[in-house]
Amino acid sequence: MNITRERFKQDYEQKLMSLFTEEIDKASTLDKYLALGSLVKEYSAKNWSKTKKQYSKDGDKQVYYFSMEFLIGRLLQSNLINLGIRDTVKEALAELNVSLDELEETEVDAGLGNGGLGRLAACFIDSIASIGIPGHGNGMRYQYGFFEQKIVNGYQVEIPDNWLKEGNVWETKREDKSVIVKFYGTPKAVQNNGRLNFELENYEAIKAVPYDTPVIGYENNTVNTLRLWSAEPVTNAFNFQIFSKGEYSKAVEYRTSVEAISSVLYPDDSAETGKILRLKQQYFFTSAGIYSILRTFKNSGHSLYDLDKYVAIQINDTHPAVAVAELMRILVDEEEMGWDDAWSVTTGTLAYTNHTILSEALEKWPVQVFNKLLPRIYMIIEEINRRFVGEIYQKHPNDHDRVRRMSIIEGGMVKMAHLAIVGSHSVNGVATLHTEILVNKELRDFSEFYPRKFNNKTNGITHRRWLIQSNEELTSYITKCIGDSWKKRPKDLAQFAELSKDPLVRKRVGEIKLHNKQMLADMVKKDYDIDVDPNSIFDIQVKRLHAYKRQVLNILHIMDLYNRLKDNPDLDISPRTYFFGAKSSPSYHLAKETIKLINTVADKINNDPSIKGKLKVVFLENYRVSLAEKIIKCADISEQISTTTFEASGTGNMKFMMNGALTLGTLDGANVEIHDEVGDENMFVFGMSKDEVLNYLKYGGYSPRHFYNTNSRIKRVLDQLVDGSLGVATTEFRNIHSSLLGRDEYFVLKDFDSYCEAQERIDKVFRDKDKWNEMCIVNIGKSGRFSSDNTITEYSREIWNTSPKEIH
Ligand SMILES: *Cc1c(COP(=O)(O)O)cnc(C)c1O
Repeated sequence: MNITRERFKQDYEQKLMSLFTEEIDKASTLDKYLALGSLVKEYSAKNWSKTKKQYSKDGDKQVYYFSMEFLIGRLLQSNLINLGIRDTVKEALAELNVSLDELEETEVDAGLGNGGLGRLAACFIDSIASIGIPGHGNGMRYQYGFFEQKIVNGYQVEIPDNWLKEGNVWETKREDKSVIVKFYGTPKAVQNNGRLNFELENYEAIKAVPYDTPVIGYENNTVNTLRLWSAEPVTNAFNFQIFSKGEYSKAVEYRTSVEAISSVLYPDDSAETGKILRLKQQYFFTSAGIYSILRTFKNSGHSLYDLDKYVAIQINDTHPAVAVAELMRILVDEEEMGWDDAWSVTTGTLAYTNHTILSEALEKWPVQVFNKLLPRIYMIIEEINRRFVGEIYQKHPNDHDRVRRMSIIEGGMVKMAHLAIVGSHSVNGVATLHTEILVNKELRDFSEFYPRKFNNKTNGITHRRWLIQSNEELTSYITKCIGDSWKKRPKDLAQFAELSKDPLVRKRVGEIKLHNKQMLADMVKKDYDIDVDPNSIFDIQVKRLHAYKRQVLNILHIMDLYNRLKDNPDLDISPRTYFFGAKSSPSYHLAKETIKLINTVADKINNDPSIKGKLKVVFLENYRVSLAEKIIKCADISEQISTTTFEASGTGNMKFMMNGALTLGTLDGANVEIHDEVGDENMFVFGMSKDEVLNYLKYGGYSPRHFYNTNSRIKRVLDQLVDGSLGVATTEFRNIHSSLLGRDEYFVLKDFDSYCEAQERIDKVFRDKDKWNEMCIVNIGKSGRFSSDNTITEYSREIWNTSPKEIH
């Protein structure tokens, strides 16, 4: 949009006045932020309405991205950038003595996700709008986001994230678009014009109220919608009947149980799978989403038999997999479509993205729980499964074992991944290696059965947030060198890679990195009172805390390096600062112990003057999107050290690469594709190959004791975990100790040597700044293919069959 500074100042002063009856110099920072946010939302309103109108008038196919998590972070800065008015607004505010940076810093993160999966959904809706594809998000409006992490005495403490406390300027409550979602009850067969239909009786009705947030495309006129659902009690005659019988406590109970549905985001935690509330959440936002899609669709006047020509629903992991049965139920029971037609429409509409091969993360629900909560849905799944099993037998007569392996219902459990695969026309993995493992191993039965369904869509990140927004200095320098076409066509960043031999470019890229590092050093001094040297290697591992991501490998190497420095204070190493940021799921004890270990080692090292400041370790509290935006650009080394085959893709790896950090990584997930782009010479690869890992997993034979007994450095750091040398109780880290020496599925000790050796290569190369900067430039330049704009273009062409649409 176009706006002059003068016009903006008028609008802004008016806004502050109308909202808070306050002049600028009297208003609080929060009020100033809220006024700016609501003005920016107002600026997007016209295009929002125009976009909706044009979609409905032209009958374009609409995409809906169903995700239980949207890890959005902040929106003010990215909305200003996407509207193309940030510079104007910044200057105008400065004239009013208001700092835009400060207002942006006031916004609380919308932390409606755990990590990568939720952030992917947020990057995707940004790219969908920025490319101009008609597509929208559908998810949950949690009252409390992912917890806020405090570190107290080295331990993680969880604090509820009451993110809506000060209000949310971006959302609009759409009471008029509410729908009813039904739980429990008894399906009753009714004869209707000779058709047998099922209706639910004596169900619990819950009102799903949508809150809409505009998703503003980058310098186009597209404004799509993120629709998040909140649960409210229904106050209709049906419920009044119960309550008027004087059952007051029941009424209160009902209200509480309803509000629980959209109250909290579940932590990503294998132990939670039995929770009925989580299944309730899944059905709640899925059913509400489908009803709302069908309402819009019906207004178009098209036949429901053509639904898959006009609607595509992408389900992000199995959390919304119940969509398969819900869409079937609505088509068959409510729209009176025949089963076969309904099935063809359903599978034509739905597509499924798989995110994990960790077996404990594959969702399944006990039949009893499922059948009680969603009785009609369960009947439909039984019928889907009956027909599916029939098909398997047709293709593989008498292969009972295959049927057992592939069944949707088996062993008293409903398997959501199987439901999603059978009920979708597309199943995709999220990186080449991950998809290959799905096809050849984890989901082999299914890929043999449905060879054409399986495909790969390597994840991506929006280069707008992760470069243009978060790294302004690098952004303007790239633009100065190669122009700004890359902002709309990120692959044009390749032109920057061509400058890697230019000494001036190298020097400048090094200076920008140093500036960024200086800022982080200042922040660390201010927030943690730790002195870090911006000229040291900034080695950063930020991501959820999980055994397979192997933060333990990182900290063991630090302990080993510290041991070597203690043995020889003159050891010639490039000074290092190791940064960690990670939340652990509240009930994941091993992960919490790892946080305590990192903080304990940090304390010991940071307070030991004998190593002459050559080593520092910093644990950054409360890792989240807004913190990621500040620290990723400061990294020299990006730690991507998961056990090969376990990280489906990773997206943190892409963010670091785009900001000129060099990857220290295994050939896992999308690291493989980063390696394809930059080669051995621009990345530090280590660790077991996928075949080695797969062999161990299949045949066993891994013996951590062997490494403990034969490698004195390993023995020393492991002993230090439990012999009191870290200055805490000897029991503090016993679980880590025994997991590493027991049946460690993540092969930490096996990869230890190779990891240390890669760290030593880094130490050497870092001494040659010119060479190092060259490598950074290559990484930045080759990162364009990891923009989610490319990923979304592929989804759009190969799964959704949609195309960009210009809004005017
Ligand atoms: C990108 C991102 C992640 C995912 O990081 P991985 O290294 O891919 O696991 C997690 N959390 C936040 C806040 C992120 O921005």
